[in-house]
Amino acid sequence: DGTIVWLRRDLRLSDQPALRFAIERGGPVIPVYIESFKEEGRWAPGGAHRWWLHESLGSLASDLEGVGSRLVIRRGEALAQLRALVKETGADAVVWCRRYEPLVIERDKAVKSSLCEEGVTVETFNGSLLFEPWTVMNQQEKPYQVYSPFSRNALDQDEPERPLSRPRKLESPESWPESLGIDDLGLLPEVKWYQRMAEVWEPGEKGARKRLKAFVGERSVDYKSERDRPDLEGTSRLSPYLHHGELSPRQAWHAVLDGLPEGSSRRDVMKYLKELLWREFGYHLLYHFPQTPERPLREKYASFPWRDAPQDLRAWQKGQTGYPIVDAGMRQLWATGWMHNRVRMIVASVLVKQLLITWEEGAAWFWDTLVDGDLANNTLGWQWAGGCGADAAPYFRVFNPVLQGEKFDPEGAYTRLWVPELKEVPQKWLFKPWEAPKEVLEQAGVQLGQTYPEPIVDPKAGRERALEAFEVVKG
Ligand code: FAD
Repeated sequence: DGTIVWLRRDLRLSDQPALRFAIERGGPVIPVYIESFKEEGRWAPGGAHRWWLHESLGSLASDLEGVGSRLVIRRGEALAQLRALVKETGADAVVWCRRYEPLVIERDKAVKSSLCEEGVTVETFNGSLLFEPWTVMNQQEKPYQVYSPFSRNALDQDEPERPLSRPRKLESPESWPESLGIDDLGLLPEVKWYQRMAEVWEPGEKGARKRLKAFVGERSVDYKSERDRPDLEGTSRLSPYLHHGELSPRQAWHAVLDGLPEGSSRRDVMKYLKELLWREFGYHLLYHFPQTPERPLREKYASFPWRDAPQDLRAWQKGQTGYPIVDAGMRQLWATGWMHNRVRMIVASVLVKQLLITWEEGAAWFWDTLVDGDLANNTLGWQWAGGCGADAAPYFRVFNPVLQGEKFDPEGAYTRLWVPELKEVPQKWLFKPWEAPKEVLEQAGVQLGQTYPEPIVDPKAGRERALEAFEVVKG
């Protein structure tokens, strides 16, 4: 007897429904991670995601040792590995928390039906969402395509359940099955480009708890006014923890409500709770419109005349567009695996509108460089920017990278941090150095075209070109 707990995007011990089920069932508990990236096709984890995963598995393995257990690590086709583990351990049940990516759903269904046919008990749980995607539907029992009614409906549902407690002890099997070491998975690249990430992040459940603790209380209340400022620690920075499941959304939800400072109410943190619902909306859309990672939700965008401009794409990726706020964001992404939401919106708008490069190129780059790269939310964000998704930015909304910088980085601290070659440029010209008088640039030690690029396209000309191109999909 015994239960195999197949851990995937729920790399934690607390609020872990699959683990809880295994414990309550009685008998040995065998926690397993299987690297089966091949089964995720095009959307196998990108580089930054793999670095995070490597660290996270290390943290999980040591947490499991702390409760008298182990993490068994395997690689290969999930079904074959689980079958072998059932045989090796004599376990009679396999349990896991659900995932929602189309290929993973298909794979999991096949795994479940094969194991069940072979007489193994299979149970699956909700470990990553506040609401399962099929439980929040409109009056016609159809999925939502607009956020506001979706979130209203979600807020009308019962309050998400309180998180489950952390187990103190897990029962071990008589003998442990064979396991690879974490290093054997080869998740780390040969060139150590992840050093800055390691300085900024502490992957794993403990790191998640620390971040959450730092955010609840005053910061969660200030969130509503500071969330759009990349120069402040105005947001929670919990996205990679939520993505990898080192933290569950209901842990975040309840921690914020339980930690309300004196004199404040639920209304003061509503903005934050609603942001967690954007994440839910992303999963809702991915589940009901599984084609969207590859195809625009609005079909007429499928034939949009995108530019093929590899040099421009490269300049954008490397943070060399000559638009300071864009370059700051792209360099923050490259160095730390994360970018502030407002800046994600700006860089995405510039790629799609000013440069007329398809959102799919942007999504692919983010996929490889983000530690929180998440099929549901990356697709949501990029289709929003591209104007081709649910509840998307209208075609005529072209962000002006100068005004956006001036508004959201009002002292320029964020831009100066990531684009140090502009450090000495006075605030007045920081976001449009190409308009600055020659002496100003000279004094700041900037030579446009040499120490820092000229703008990749004149913002006004870019805007006009975008509006013209987007005529095709108007209406
Ligand atoms: P907070 O502001 O503290 O928000 C709390 C949590 O709510 C986040 O951790 C996140 O889980 C969720 N959330 C917040 N904003 C959004 C949003 N707009 N959409 C969906 N969920 C949200 N988020 C990802 O997790 N993975 C991605 O791959 C991703 N790609 C994006 C691509 C683009 C082009 C854009 C515009 C946005 C993308 N986002 C993505 C959403 C958002 O930018 C990040 O979730 C957010 O910046 C994470 O920072 P935070 O944890 O400090 O967020």
